[in-house]
Amino acid sequence: MRPEPDCRLCRLCENRTNIVLPSGNLSSQVVFVGEAPGENEDLSGKPFVGKSGKILNAIMEEEGIDRSAVMITNTVKCRPPNNRDPTKEEMGACRPFLDREMSGRKVIVGLGKSACRDLLGYEGKMADIVNTEMSINVLGKDVLFIPTYHPAACIYSRESRDALRTTMRILRDGYLE
Ligand code: SF4
Repeated sequence: MRPEPDCRLCRLCENRTNIVLPSGNLSSQVVFVGEAPGENEDLSGKPFVGKSGKILNAIMEEEGIDRSAVMITNTVKCRPPNNRDPTKEEMGACRPFLDREMSGRKVIVGLGKSACRDLLGYEGKMADIVNTEMSINVLGKDVLFIPTYHPAACIYSRESRDALRTTMRILRDGYLE
């Protein structure tokens, strides 16, 4: 199930240029869930094509993962104004689409705080849960969930970059062929 091209289920519809749908291998057993589209994503209609996308690509490449091997999406499919965090209501409105994207997969990777807030209800520090293997319920089934840093958090933090690299190694060695 995808949003209708004119989806108006939440107020993020008011400022968007494009609805940003998942990209990559849409049948992959591994799904990355980021926060929300930014300016470049809104203009192109594709997730993680701006600065964060370049960092994500670089780290994946360093760890020998082809970006096209995974599916990449966001908690909400429309850009929040001024790149603010999506609200609980907006994430809730968009959740049925995300649930369908995550359904039947082997691993869900939560990229950053908003994704972890939406999928785990977690409000604490990312450092306390990063790369801890957990489980979330997706449409009645438990699915492995790995929380990690958003690529944007890696711009100025060596620790975050190293942790995101570790996430990629976990995926490469355990869940991607
Ligand atoms: S964010 Fe999701 S629910 Fe809200 S308008 Fe966009 S597609 Fe619809």
